[in-house]
Order: sequence, then structure tokens, then C-alpha cells
Amino acid sequence: MHTLTLAQQVRALAEKQFSSEELVKHYVQRIETYDEKLNSFITFTPERALEQAKQADSRAGDVGLLNGVPIALKDIFCTDGVKTSCASKMLDNFIAPYDATVVTKLNQAGAISLGKTNMDEFAMGSSSESSYYGAVKNPWDTERVPGGSSGGSASALAARLTSASMGTDTGGSIRQPAALCGITGLKPTYGRVSRYGMIAYASSLDQGGPFGITAEDCAYMLQAIAGHDYLDSTSVDRPVPDYIAGLSEPVKGMCIGLPEEFFQQGLDADIAAKIEQACEVLKSLGCEIKSISLPNAKLAIAAYYVLAPAECSSNLSRFDGVRFGYRCENPTGLEDMYCRSRSEGFGDEVKRRIMIGAYALSAGYYDAYYLKAQKIRRLISEDYKAAFSEVDAVLSPTSPTTAFKVNEKSDDPITMYLSDIYTIGVNLAGLPGISLPVGFLQGLPVGMQLVSNYFEEQTLLNLGHQYQKQTDHHLQIPSEFE
Ligand code: GLN
Repeated sequence: MHTLTLAQQVRALAEKQFSSEELVKHYVQRIETYDEKLNSFITFTPERALEQAKQADSRAGDVGLLNGVPIALKDIFCTDGVKTSCASKMLDNFIAPYDATVVTKLNQAGAISLGKTNMDEFAMGSSSESSYYGAVKNPWDTERVPGGSSGGSASALAARLTSASMGTDTGGSIRQPAALCGITGLKPTYGRVSRYGMIAYASSLDQGGPFGITAEDCAYMLQAIAGHDYLDSTSVDRPVPDYIAGLSEPVKGMCIGLPEEFFQQGLDADIAAKIEQACEVLKSLGCEIKSISLPNAKLAIAAYYVLAPAECSSNLSRFDGVRFGYRCENPTGLEDMYCRSRSEGFGDEVKRRIMIGAYALSAGYYDAYYLKAQKIRRLISEDYKAAFSEVDAVLSPTSPTTAFKVNEKSDDPITMYLSDIYTIGVNLAGLPGISLPVGFLQGLPVGMQLVSNYFEEQTLLNLGHQYQKQTDHHLQIPSEFE
């Protein structure tokens, strides 16, 4: 059953080839057998899942789009009655008292949550090593990282421990782990999917989105989670198209731009070759490929590492030991309580970012750093705007390297930050992006990123679906987990 895609499972369930209970039991067993090797789950909720599966089986008639299929949620989505830790000691004892809107919508669609997946602490990282619960491993090579920060959701899906999963993407955290794990990952347009109940890292950049085996699976997931939410004032009130119906539209005549800046130094020649092969497939489908320029792309990482920490220093001030989360033992006074609760509750990377952010926002430096970074953000958006006056999508690698070894970059934050060179500008501009598997190098997956204009997720899903009909990279399963 786990070799089927989510869309195939939805159809098989409708035709009663197997029940949701059988399907969920199968995945529960797989998690029990395999997750020890991957550490992809923080909280596994088999009883709850089996209970929900029985309910799904008992539904008749007009059931939800995802009725009976198992999914996994990054442990950043508040889930009523279930621990929601953000992979931090700070929230190790936090049981969410309500569901995030994404969780409510997935429940309404009939999806079944197998549990909460591991991640970088508070979604800060590109390797899923900074979790309080230990590093996540890549199923293609368990000595390597799955990427981050949504590494648990990507690793679990690549090993077929779930049928689809949810991640969040602030600077690349859906697309980069999708690339490193050989699966499909979609970051929707900022505002397309509600952020209500999704624990905030950098609110102007964060966006939840799905991982699927295929672009078609991502279309099913997006269909279920997209839409306006009055509980999130930045969610956009705009009709949700029928993403699934649009998948079969021909892509002939679409124009795809390759930013020249992304194919210069710093890109591994073997990765570049895989991207070229993928371009050939798109050409064979009738797409036109042309060179474009994103002149300010090189500034994206520098701007992001001012803006994201600035927002996180503000967002994370709520974790003060008073209202929820970790509180230190025997505080001697209020200040000691604040200070020790935060010093003991947060890990090194989170503290590093809070410090950078507080510094960048301080009175004497605001203009020099924060304001400057905002101006760069505008320039980057303008670059994309110019690009989309000429092309339908922008194509690049997703990540400059394949999966790296555990501990290889964890002591070198700057090198780690560079992993997101191709993805971060997309968040700064608020655009949608997808990562698609395009092959393997030394047994490790390579991903390609496509970016489209605002609310044009359809273009990405359509291109992805048509590409995947011509290729089978996305269907490969790591041998240890077959
Ligand atoms: N790797 C980036 C960071 O560390 C992006 C993380 C994310 O998208 N959540 O901030």
C-alpha cells in the first residue's frame, strides 16, 4: 500500500480496495519498524489515528477529499490535546489547547494524523539537527541530514512512513528538505494558507505547505488547506481554484526562465547537469526555456538573516516562563526567572538568532540593518516582478548540494545559511515555489525548484505533474525502507 501515491490511495479507498483502518495500521507498523533509524517523529499518535481511521471508514456518501489517508504534521502546528513542541525544550511540556486552521481543514477533509514530526528547533535551520529531540536522518543515507527545518516531515514521507506531510517554509524549509529527500514539496504564496495556530518564527515569511510523493499529491493537500481564514489577518480572501482539475492542462507554450546568477560559481557541475536534463524534458513538453536575470538575488541571504532574526526576536519573547512552556527551577526573582527560563529552554541556534534580531532592531542600528534589509527585500520582489513579465516560471536548483553528513555543518552557521541560497528570495518576495525530484548523484536525490507569480500555484503543480508523467525519479524508494 505504501508504494501508492496519496492520490492513488484516495481512489483505492473510494473503490474499497482496502479500508482506512488497514491503511493506517500498515503505516503504524512501518513507523514502529523504521522510525528508530530516522527519528522523524517527535510524537507518534497511533491510537488516535486508528480511532480516526474507523470514523473515516464509517463515513458514507460525499466524504472529504482526503478521507482515510494518513498524514504527518510538522510539530509546529498546534494540535488540540497533543504535545506541540516546535522541537524545543521550551515547549517540551506544551499540550496545545486548540487546532491550527491547517489541522482543522485537514480533519475536515478526512485526513488522519499519524503524529507530529521532528524539525529544527523553532524551524531555524537547514538540517533538522538542532532539535531538542536529536537529529533527523535522511532515509537515502542515514549518516546524512534530511535538510531542514521540516526534515522530519520530509524524511518520514521519503521512507513511506506516511502518505503525505505538512511542513512550513520561512526561507526554504519545505523545498530544501524535499530536494534532499527526493520528494515533492510546495511552498504556497504568502497568505494562501492560514498561519493561525502555526507557531511563529518570522511572521512575514512563514508559510505552511505540503510534501507529497508527486505534484498531484501536493495538489490534493493544497486543495484541502488553502483559503481565507478570518483568524489570520494576513490570509488572503481569494477563491481557491480547482488545483486537481488543472493538473492535466497542457504546458505547451509556457515560458520558463533560468536566472543566470544561479548558474554561475558555487553550483556543483553535476547538479547543474541534472537541471539541464530536466530542462530538456520540459522542452519536450513544449516549454520554451530562456535566460533571465535576478540581479539582487545575491543579497537575499544577507537580508533574510537580518529580517528573520528581527521577527523571531519579537515572536519568541512570549516564551518567558510565565504563561506557558518551560520555567526554570527555584527562581530567586522575576528577572532570574525570565533569564534562566530562556537560557535553559532555548538551544544555541535560537539564542543566536534572538541576539542578532534584538541587535538589528535596537535604536542605533535599526536604519543601518533592518531598514536596509527591507529595502533589499523590495528590490528582490521587483526582480521577480520583472521576470514574471517575461516568463511563467523561474527554474533553478533547489539546493546547491545534495544531503550533507550529520555534524558536517552544524558548527559553522554561515555555511549552513548558504544552503538556502536559491530558496530564500522566494520567501522575501512572498511567492510560491515547488521542489521536484530530478535524479540522483551518488545515490542522493537532487531537486529542482520552480517559482511562479503570486497565487499561480496551479502553474507549478501543472508543470510538476506533466514533468512527473515523463520521469520516475519521484517514485524511487530508499532500499532500506522498501
Ligand atoms: N534555513 C532557513 C533558516 O534557518 C529557513 C528555515 C525555514 O524555512 N523555516 O532560517
